Amino acid sequence: MSPSSEWNVSPFAECPNCGRFLSLRVERCPDCQELIDEGYAFYSALHVTVITQACSFANSIKYVDLIAILALGTSVFVYILNEPWLFVLAPMMSAVPLFFIILWFSRFGRFKFAEDDFQKAKREMRASLVLWLGILVVQLIALATLWS
Ligand SMILES: [Zn+2]
Repeated sequence: MSPSSEWNVSPFAECPNCGRFLSLRVERCPDCQELIDEGYAFYSALHVTVITQACSFANSIKYVDLIAILALGTSVFVYILNEPWLFVLAPMMSAVPLFFIILWFSRFGRFKFAEDDFQKAKREMRASLVLWLGILVVQLIALATLWS
């Protein structure tokens, strides 16, 4: 499978010399006349696309983090109601974002790009992972105390 079909590559590569975005088919950078090697252009396009996808995916997950507050609120409410069966639902609210965060790491975690955007996305995903694991642990502990 070619990387282009895997990543749905946008037709942009970055000029290695001046950083200008190029169409994949150009042989020379129109700005600085740098020769663009086809293999390089392909790698660069993949690189740019992976970073773009990693950041937009991470941004979507960040919105899910807002639901964390809702999840905690619901947990507290259900805890007060003292209805263990209802409380089983609470950890499920954490399972969904955790699933997407783990998906992010399985897809982008292996890339070691130095770009700030990518590093920032990675840091945010780690923070989200810690946040949701924390919520899940609290929910499970609460669940255990309700059932004991
Ligand atoms: Zn250039």
